[in-house]
Amino acid sequence: MAADVETGVGKSYPRLAIRNATVVSGRGTPAEGPIDLVIKDGVIETVRRVDPISQSFSGEGSQVDPSDHVIDASGMCVLPGLIDAHTHVPTDPAHCGPGGWQYAYKLWLGHGVTTIRTVDFGNEAELAGHRRCMQQDGTVAVPRLVIMAGGWPPHVHIKPEEARAHVRRFRELGADGLKLIPGMLVTINLATLEAMCDEARKAGMEAGVAIHLALNSELNAAMASDAGVRTIEHTYGIPEAAIPGVQNFPLGYNEMDEIARFRHSANNWPDADRYPERVLDVLDRMIRNGTVWSPTMVVYEANRDITRAQTTPWYDKYATPVLLNRWKPQPGIHASYHFDWRTSDEIAWKEKYRLWMKYLRVFFERGGTIIAGADAGWLHTLYGFSMIRELELLQEAGFHPLDVVRMATTNSARVLALQDLQAGIFPGAPADLAIVDGNPLENFKVMYGTGVDRFLDDRKTKVRTGGVRWTIRGGVVFDARALLKDVEEYVQQMKLEAAAVSSVPSS
Ligand SMILES: [Zn+2]
Repeated sequence: MAADVETGVGKSYPRLAIRNATVVSGRGTPAEGPIDLVIKDGVIETVRRVDPISQSFSGEGSQVDPSDHVIDASGMCVLPGLIDAHTHVPTDPAHCGPGGWQYAYKLWLGHGVTTIRTVDFGNEAELAGHRRCMQQDGTVAVPRLVIMAGGWPPHVHIKPEEARAHVRRFRELGADGLKLIPGMLVTINLATLEAMCDEARKAGMEAGVAIHLALNSELNAAMASDAGVRTIEHTYGIPEAAIPGVQNFPLGYNEMDEIARFRHSANNWPDADRYPERVLDVLDRMIRNGTVWSPTMVVYEANRDITRAQTTPWYDKYATPVLLNRWKPQPGIHASYHFDWRTSDEIAWKEKYRLWMKYLRVFFERGGTIIAGADAGWLHTLYGFSMIRELELLQEAGFHPLDVVRMATTNSARVLALQDLQAGIFPGAPADLAIVDGNPLENFKVMYGTGVDRFLDDRKTKVRTGGVRWTIRGGVVFDARALLKDVEEYVQQMKLEAAAVSSVPSS
């Protein structure tokens, strides 16, 4: 058991019943209720409709046994556990302090996230240890881990045979797939990418290859798709593949200047949109190849409204001082470039989002698969909270909330080769569930850990409702509010330590 992972946080029961729930299957079917769910040995045993009409047809009543542990889910909505398909576990204490991973795990579980796909910055061997720990003792507060290895040697030109050897080494470390940022951290050409995809397949890495195409990569999304990558992360490389020649960079542009890079990457979708037929060709090529789009819109949202990003109401209780410091606009820290962010930049990014969302919608309508991930930890995005924000942004892109839930659950399960989770809420499927106080289909905001304020009928009394109430992973019940309380205490302790350090007089 890894000493750094806290045990005994969740509770398991021989038989667990969830009564009177409104259920969203995750398969795109409408909400239904009241439903009683019975969970045995971590698996959903029965899904029974207990409304009078269904019972008059079936002649059956509830199957809840008096010996069952019962969760009364009246007024609550049960979804499949969310899958955050783009995460970085903060294993480096410089990111979120010494308890960083536990902090992030609790924020994810506290928001109904039962599976994460880690894409780099985590130590693959350490993460594999966390997964073993979870398998030995289901009560530890760790989501299911799909580990995409990203620890490539930086700034080298990897040749195909070297790449194959790295892939085999990652497999031995317990990785399920690979994550690449060609251009930024590793320089690779098409032959090497093809070798990596091929070797990942041969090594049995079922989660495949995820790619984030930095602007200075010689590759684009069409080439990566043909080479066999499973997912295109963010949006890089898709508009670039549609632009004839290069994007219209200013002549003094320097890729290593982060402000310039983010300022001018606002123009890739507007440039591509001048060639709509070529964009459709790229999207169709991805669809033909089965390449999935993981847009992670939330992580760039600061670019379209920096003030919003700097003032979200959850920072106070849930963001560590280390994160808040890293996010302060300053040169020299990755992704903290907003010290010279202009009105014109925000306007350009709003236009980029409009087109990005338009083409996401087109991709979907033509048969493409989209999954939801948040890429939290950078650019003012907090673990867990940002996943809920990504759901809101997908709705803003024009998707029905039922489709959004599908993207964040069963779609991702299929893409990540998590066979058992592909059915969502279904008899025989693992009991990975989020029990939400309120109806997220009407308002995803009810899933934020900070809840939502409501006024009672007297129009004077304010009450706070919402939030995920319980998160269930493999039948183990986590009290989501208690997890967030733990996070709050950790943040408080980190603040006290930071204050003590800064008040030490210098001699
Ligand atoms: Zn990322």
